[in-house]
Amino acid sequence: MFIDSHCHLDKLNVQHYASGLDELITTTYAAGVTEMLCIGVDTEQFPVMLKQVEAYDFIHVSAGIHPLGVKTASDFALLAQQADLKKVIAVGETGLDYHYAPATKEAQVASFVQHMQIADQVKKPLIVHSREARQDTINLLQAHANQEVGGIIHCFTEDQAMADKCLDLGFYISISGIATFRNAEALRQIIKRLPLDRILIETDAPYLAPVPYRGRQNEPLYVSYVAQLVADLKGISAARAAEITSENFHRLFNLS
Ligand SMILES: [Zn+2]
Ligand SMILES: [Zn+2]
Repeated sequence: MFIDSHCHLDKLNVQHYASGLDELITTTYAAGVTEMLCIGVDTEQFPVMLKQVEAYDFIHVSAGIHPLGVKTASDFALLAQQADLKKVIAVGETGLDYHYAPATKEAQVASFVQHMQIADQVKKPLIVHSREARQDTINLLQAHANQEVGGIIHCFTEDQAMADKCLDLGFYISISGIATFRNAEALRQIIKRLPLDRILIETDAPYLAPVPYRGRQNEPLYVSYVAQLVADLKGISAARAAEITSENFHRLFNLS
């Protein structure tokens, strides 16, 4: 069934679920989202997030420091310890966001490089966020990423040239609800040309809800809308899109 390759379960508003996040998780699982990757964004919040999801075998976790949250004193030794935990299958999200935080460029680059070194040490794939930083993202990945470990360019919104370079580096490309937006035609044309065996799907919940929920809180449940979009663009069934993206996820993370 569906795998949401990128969500922030600890950031969801769960007031509308009588028993909170646990109920959201169990209903989402029952509705067919049989695995989720819950993404870490800072070392301080990480233990809280881990505690919230640790009881669920079908929820995987990543450890990272978001590019919009990097501080000059970010604790990379602690990050390395967190990344080494068994439940943690990926390192990130890391990367570069020059759209929202051009002022912290240097700290973002340093943090991104640290993440790549940690990913190489623990042999776990990277989760990369890139916004208005195409060239630097590619240059840094080419220079520092362990291509055998690989990773994901999450919430892909870049151009064809960037997609091609990421594929050359062995990375997977994760499609979010943004691709369902009316103004995302260029992105849909890129998705049409992506090799099916390198596509993942995600919600990035609670952000970026797909059409028809655009503007509302996103939930991992809505990953089916992303699968449907990929299916339509590729001329396959949604069930097949779910199956292929799940196989891709398992291959990347060596899961069965
Ligand atoms: Zn992101
Ligand atoms: Zn994210």
